[in-house]
Amino acid sequence: MGGGAMSAVCSEPGCGAVLARNPRRKGTRCQRCAARTRVRSAEELAATGAKIRARYAEPGALTAHRARCRAAQIAAQARDPELLARRREQGRRNGRLHGNKGQTPERNAKISRTQTERYLGWCPLEYRDEYRRLVRNAGLKAADARAAIEVQIEADLQRYLRTGRLQRSGLSS
Ligand SMILES: [Zn+2]
Repeated sequence: MGGGAMSAVCSEPGCGAVLARNPRRKGTRCQRCAARTRVRSAEELAATGAKIRARYAEPGALTAHRARCRAAQIAAQARDPELLARRREQGRRNGRLHGNKGQTPERNAKISRTQTERYLGWCPLEYRDEYRRLVRNAGLKAADARAAIEVQIEADLQRYLRTGRLQRSGLSS
């Protein structure tokens, strides 16, 4: 761990994630555990969604966010030249998973890409599983799930800018 000061650990029993310094954190849990708790209450969820939407409704906020996302993607690729190839392979695996209905792999991949991009084009690939988890398992509306993911991306990016470590907070793999 870089950073110098003591590194706190998520207070959620059994988690143990090391907490990066985050001026916006109000509690003692990691983002993932905090999000999991928020998801338990519909009212809190609605409040969180409203707060997030308000933040992104500010002039220039979304543009700045997109620029940061792009920068993060570029940085990620620079740090990990295999990234693109791995993502491609992941896409192929997904394609196989969803069955080949007599079409060529190339055509399947193209269809799958087009469909996914239509509703997930805003979401960086490494956050898509988490987004789907929020929608399918946590029952969030698409807009709320997107807002939650965008907050997560931003937090990850802020951490990256602070620590130089690019690390997605949602998944513990
Ligand atoms: Zn935790």
